[in-house]
Amino acid sequence: MSAATTRSRTPDRLCAEAVDIARAAAEEAAAPGAVGEHVSLVSEGDRVVTHFFECLESGYRGWRWAVTIARASRAKNITLDEAVLLPGPDALLAPEWVPWSERLRPGDMGPGDLLPTEAEDLRLEPGYTGEDMPPPNSVIAEVMPSDDLAERVEAEDAELTDRGPWTDATAANGRGAIAALAEELGMRRARVLSRYGLHIAADRWDESYGAKTPMAQAAPANCVSCGFLVPMAGSLRQAFGVCANEFSPADGHVVSLSYGCGGHSEAAVMPKPPTPPPPVFDSMGVDEFPLRPARDGGSVEPEPDGESEDLGHS
Ligand code: SF4
Repeated sequence: MSAATTRSRTPDRLCAEAVDIARAAAEEAAAPGAVGEHVSLVSEGDRVVTHFFECLESGYRGWRWAVTIARASRAKNITLDEAVLLPGPDALLAPEWVPWSERLRPGDMGPGDLLPTEAEDLRLEPGYTGEDMPPPNSVIAEVMPSDDLAERVEAEDAELTDRGPWTDATAANGRGAIAALAEELGMRRARVLSRYGLHIAADRWDESYGAKTPMAQAAPANCVSCGFLVPMAGSLRQAFGVCANEFSPADGHVVSLSYGCGGHSEAAVMPKPPTPPPPVFDSMGVDEFPLRPARDGGSVEPEPDGESEDLGHS
């Protein structure tokens, strides 16, 4: 049977009664007036008991002074083991510490901040630089010996030389051709996005500007047919582009081709201004106008029938 199972669960009577000894020890360890009521006691083992006292300090709500005392076998003297301040079940505790690299959130970086990228960052993988040595300030300068990179270049040169239609001159310039091609593809970098890095970037962008967003669901058409979409380079161009409509909520952001908004270049047609009706010329009707103003300022003096008739027919 183990020692733990033989321990007495019942507190030793003499130790349990030695509350005053325990309180004196707590008051000696604490600031004056910081020890409150006796809260409880627990048996730690044979003739070993811990007494708990309230902590009255304002910054330690729910904490307790724990004083452990003990007694030797067949001895009546109580001896002090330790007096410490421990958190109780309702103690106010600081949150668990989290390393800064796990605390960092998108948008936390400010002007002048530097965010180091780990050498083993899964989002990145070594790129092809065409150089024998990675840049001196690159983290992979330490993990990738320069010989490795040189070997890779030599291997690619040899592969190019072995290919049929290539001439000796072309093969001799293989290294330059690779470098030129790499530059054209934007690969002359110490590290490039890994497959994992591409996937998580695509997921993130799709979540913000993808087909499942409310804006896209209510859009009259998708970005793929919009004139404001600027194509991207690389494999991500199959699913994403950049919106360049200043009135769109996605202006300057990477958008999924299946995203969309009301600013689509073709979906919404500008309303035309209303066209006024053409003027109507009534060439058949006759309007009567008096030649003289009315004498009494009110009613118009009627023309003699003969004159009116003459004017109407003239
Ligand atoms: S304007 Fe709207 S539909 Fe056009 S690319 Fe931008 S987000 Fe897509």
